[in-house]
Amino acid sequence: MTLQTPPDLTPLMRQYYAIKQQYPHALLLFQVGDFYELFFDDAKQAAAFLGIALTKRGKVNGDPIPLCGVPVHALEHYMAKLIKGGFKVAICDQLEEPKPGKVVDRGVTQVLTPGTLTDSKLLDEKTDSYLFSFFPAHDQWGLVFAELLTAQLYATVLPVHAQKSLESELIRFFPDEVIIPADKIAKPFESYFKKLGYCTTLVNPEQNNSAEEWMHNQFAQDARLHFQTHDSLRFAVSHFYSYIKQTQQSAVDQFKTLHWYAPDDFLILDHATQTNLELIRNVHDGSRKNTLCEVIDGALTPMGSRMIKKWIMRPLVKKQAIIQRHDAVEQCMNNIVAMQQLEQIFSELGDIERVIGRIALRRGTVHDYGHLKRVLSHLPAIYQTLTAVNRGTLLHAITSSFADFSTLYQLLYAALNDDSSKDWIIKQGFDQELDYIRDLALGATQKIMDFELQEQQQTGIGSLKVRYNQVYGYYIEVTKTHADAIPARYIRQQTLVGRERYMTPELQQLQHEIMRAQADLALHEKTVFERIKNEVAVQISQLRKLAHALANLDALLGLARTSYHNGYTRPTFNEDRIIDIQDGRHPVVERVIGHGFIPNDTQLNDTQSTWIITGPNMGGKSTYLRQVALINIMAQVGCFVPAKQANLSILDRIFTRIGAGDNLSQGKSTFLVEMEETAAICTQATANSLVILDEVGRGTSTFDGLAIAQAVVEYIHTSVKARCLFATHYHELTLLPQNFSGIASYYAANKKTPNGIQFLYKIVSGVSDGSFGVEVAKLAQLPASVVMRAQYILEDLQAHSADVMHGAIKLPADKDYNQMRQTIAQLQLDLELTRKKLAALQQIDYDHLSPKAAFDLLWQLKEL
Ligand code: ATP
Repeated sequence: MTLQTPPDLTPLMRQYYAIKQQYPHALLLFQVGDFYELFFDDAKQAAAFLGIALTKRGKVNGDPIPLCGVPVHALEHYMAKLIKGGFKVAICDQLEEPKPGKVVDRGVTQVLTPGTLTDSKLLDEKTDSYLFSFFPAHDQWGLVFAELLTAQLYATVLPVHAQKSLESELIRFFPDEVIIPADKIAKPFESYFKKLGYCTTLVNPEQNNSAEEWMHNQFAQDARLHFQTHDSLRFAVSHFYSYIKQTQQSAVDQFKTLHWYAPDDFLILDHATQTNLELIRNVHDGSRKNTLCEVIDGALTPMGSRMIKKWIMRPLVKKQAIIQRHDAVEQCMNNIVAMQQLEQIFSELGDIERVIGRIALRRGTVHDYGHLKRVLSHLPAIYQTLTAVNRGTLLHAITSSFADFSTLYQLLYAALNDDSSKDWIIKQGFDQELDYIRDLALGATQKIMDFELQEQQQTGIGSLKVRYNQVYGYYIEVTKTHADAIPARYIRQQTLVGRERYMTPELQQLQHEIMRAQADLALHEKTVFERIKNEVAVQISQLRKLAHALANLDALLGLARTSYHNGYTRPTFNEDRIIDIQDGRHPVVERVIGHGFIPNDTQLNDTQSTWIITGPNMGGKSTYLRQVALINIMAQVGCFVPAKQANLSILDRIFTRIGAGDNLSQGKSTFLVEMEETAAICTQATANSLVILDEVGRGTSTFDGLAIAQAVVEYIHTSVKARCLFATHYHELTLLPQNFSGIASYYAANKKTPNGIQFLYKIVSGVSDGSFGVEVAKLAQLPASVVMRAQYILEDLQAHSADVMHGAIKLPADKDYNQMRQTIAQLQLDLELTRKKLAALQQIDYDHLSPKAAFDLLWQLKEL
């Protein structure tokens, strides 16, 4: 909508325009009586998205005003839908009771954006909600991930153009909203983030120095040093400040801690790896189902689950820290009784982290304070149980960090009403004056009952009732059958079918008294409650620490519980880059298929640092590759691992190249995506990395694919020297061990039976004698005639091409290498061309593309 206020508006619409001017980027829900109404473009967007009726009301400049509305009582439902749909919403409430002849005073009471939610009904309890502030300076990119309810900032910087690293961080934090500076340099990033599916907001910085002042006052010296060293970081934080100030004023002062990290402070898992391994989200529907997170998350509270999720996205690389977590897990597993006691307690703690977050923002409800009281009451038992386990451990360190909350608990215990039959906030006996006023208010109710009895006796009408409603207040109700017995002092107020309602001066006086007492009571109770809130607010940073400690404890207990129930083993670590796993299992597949899962060994060391794994389709190769990666990740998360024994080395990165996926939204073909992922592995993996390749070069012709696959394995083996597992259907690659020491061939064992192939799921040394693709196609119930024809073609192909294929891999002949070089050169040309097309595509401003320009563009692309 145009924000220029047109002349000749009704007073209501003038008020609407004035408020909407301040929130141009949010849908303004404008309260008009029992409805929140939306006008103009807001109405069109909301009606289309929510599937509600779009109507018209009044006119502006001769044009009807589009309108839609949602009932006040259903606000939460619609708001949740809008926010999940990526909209920003400003709630404009009526701030006073309507009075005839005057436009009700209205104001925006809440601005809700996907990254700044605090209401538990709008948040997923097992997922952290991050607001991401991105600032692209000329020399660096500044990244700040902010969590509103815990008031934590995580910050790092990346070199410019480090898009792959940016994507890794994005998938690590998976922010709900990205804020970008509203300037020309940053503008291209808006479409970049949008294409990745993120909700974006452009933010203008504060015109004065308030952001700088805020940063100076809020953060400690070490954080300020980072601001000084990195302009990009300072600007990312100051833009965050500007945005939070506009949308969540009360949160501004909460942010005091900045966690500075370098991406390699954790095990680096790039975007493809995090997705392929289905750590947090599965690739089918993006949910938690059948992910590593779902399997190992044995936490009992939502905050513990969120902590485990954080740990999975940021596995450790410092041995000492990993060992500490393993020690804690082991201690829990060795103290079953203590673990059971804690289980009982933790199942009652709920999401105290978010409760404290809301209390800190002054949005805590009475229930939140009651929740806090309950949690505080459990602290002595938690402390006692955990001090019984050995001193000097992580568990002990965490419990020792609990501050003494006994006084606060006493206060909450004495103050908060815990009698659910009473609709009170404050207990009887806590505040003398409140008790006095409450007696008066309650006494007044008693007086109504006495009055009713008195009137029944005086009139002789036993069915006479004194009732109450919102419109008339108190009144006397008598059925018409008693019309003759109505005294003259009764003033008729309303006639209904079969009943009459009356008022008397005495009842009016009584009503006045009661209302005054009730208003006094509400006011005084609110004042006492405010006092309690202030007492709690003083201890908010200690309470935040407590919530963090409890989340940590629950996460450790959760890992211990999973490790215990799933029969996991504590891994050991070596400094020799050995990955030695006995009877390893895939944590997710084993859970799905249960006892039928066949365990497998892995020995990656200097003698055998690259395994080429062949075997039939469906033979278990992909499962095996992922299982090795997952076991290493679990170990570095701090969990025990699904294996009989595991001696691992601490990895710096894990790369996976698995499966084929287009990225059409970014204009990338399957093959280009595959090559980009492979390129990232070749350039970023180190000798301390684990590389998992599940087919390389499948998206192109057989010879090109084979050539690339061999060149990649050779490069990783000889130049990168990472530990590598490579599953392939290019059987020619199994000849590589003949030319390279340290490359070994393994295959997924199988048995041919009269009824077809039988998968044994055992990875053994040697070479498979085929991929049995046609057999698997038969299993998949491809029509019999197609299978027979495929079998025939296969036999023909095998007869004719055995020599060629064999030659392609035995290679050392110069001419073959030349052929391969030519293929690779051609491929590079193709890639270059594809890049140009992509660059042309990426420059398009889709929002402002006229049909003519679109047509021209199509021709340009065709020419390319
Ligand atoms: P393709 O070459 O067609 O990609 P693959 O060899 O990679 O096949 P997987 O996808 O790993 O085969 O496994 C196929 C199925 O076999 C899995 O979904 C799982 O049900 C089962 N499976 C795999 N490994 C095991 C195992 N170790 N024990 C029992 N069942 C297994």
